[in-house]
Amino acid sequence: MKLPALRYVAPRTIEQACALLDADDDAKIVAGGQSLMPLLAIRLAIPSTLVDIGRIPGLDRIEEAGDYLRVGAMVTHERVITSPLVRERLPLMIEAGRNIAHVQIRSRGTIGGSIVHGDNAGEWPLALLTLGGAVEVQSVRGRRTIPAEELFLGPYMTSIRPDEILTDVWLPTHARGWSFHEVARRAGDYGLALVGVRLEFNANTCTAATITVGAAVGTLQRVTAAEEAVIGSDVDRDAARSAGEAAAASLSFISDIHGSREYRAHLVAGLVERAVADAGGRR
Ligand SMILES: Cc1cc2nc3c(=O)[nH]c(=O)nc-3n(C[C@H](O)[C@H](O)[C@H](O)COP(=O)(O)OP(=O)(O)OC[C@H]3O[C@@H](n4cnc5c(N)ncnc54)[C@H](O)[C@@H]3O)c2cc1C
Repeated sequence: MKLPALRYVAPRTIEQACALLDADDDAKIVAGGQSLMPLLAIRLAIPSTLVDIGRIPGLDRIEEAGDYLRVGAMVTHERVITSPLVRERLPLMIEAGRNIAHVQIRSRGTIGGSIVHGDNAGEWPLALLTLGGAVEVQSVRGRRTIPAEELFLGPYMTSIRPDEILTDVWLPTHARGWSFHEVARRAGDYGLALVGVRLEFNANTCTAATITVGAAVGTLQRVTAAEEAVIGSDVDRDAARSAGEAAAASLSFISDIHGSREYRAHLVAGLVERAVADAGGRR
């Protein structure tokens, strides 16, 4: 299908890109184009102008900054999962990102685009929420940082405003116990259920837990009931099973042609149990 007629601009600075968005409410950023271009083709989005941020220097770096990895918005999925620095400091990102589509899409799609797109089945959004990271955005009004907890508002909805450009993703590297589990019908398909876990320990006792679920629910989210089942325990098999049961009982699951509500609840119970046990084993 042909794209609608539109203007294309490729600014060389982030300030120019911000000014273009400020001047035209219907202008839209394009990064890897892997989600936006299909939307244009089926006319679900009809922007006046595409602002390509791919030629702005500095948006494609991965660097260590204290207890964080700072990943530029234009870093592709493939670069994240093949980065030795990410492998060493944040293996959860490798475990999550290798589930994203196929190598062709991973080589064009970007971490920034994936987070702004806000798909409830997106691996990067769930990894960001699990790790307790944040994103930095810029507009003509200046820069601001948005914690992951305040970012994902609903299916394809984030708190990033239409005139803001995501420039950097900040990922804390201090997690001790972590895991990421996903079930998809075929390798490379969007997952039917995604689960991320991050645990903190004092000796053998779990002192803090972040347990997240995506794809099986309308909005990717933390599962407080499952976290409460783990905190204060030594994360044994009973605690892992209780966390799985709590997740299945407390979430509101979606139902579609790929799987019923009951099937997804069953999947999430098993995935949370396994993911908690795995994370506990990595303390
Ligand atoms: C066949 C297929 C299978 C896929 N499977 C998966 C999968 O399993 N898991 C998964 O997570 N994803 C999957 N994707 C989506 C893919 O990961 C996309 O790359 C990603 O969702 C969007 O990144 P992008 O760089 O291509 O963004 P684009 O398509 O360029 O943009 C997406 C949206 O984000 C906005 N945007 C992009 N970058 C910025 C920025 N820096 N600041 C502000 N706004 C911005 C755009 O305006 C647009 O609204 C799949 C895509 C395809 C085509």
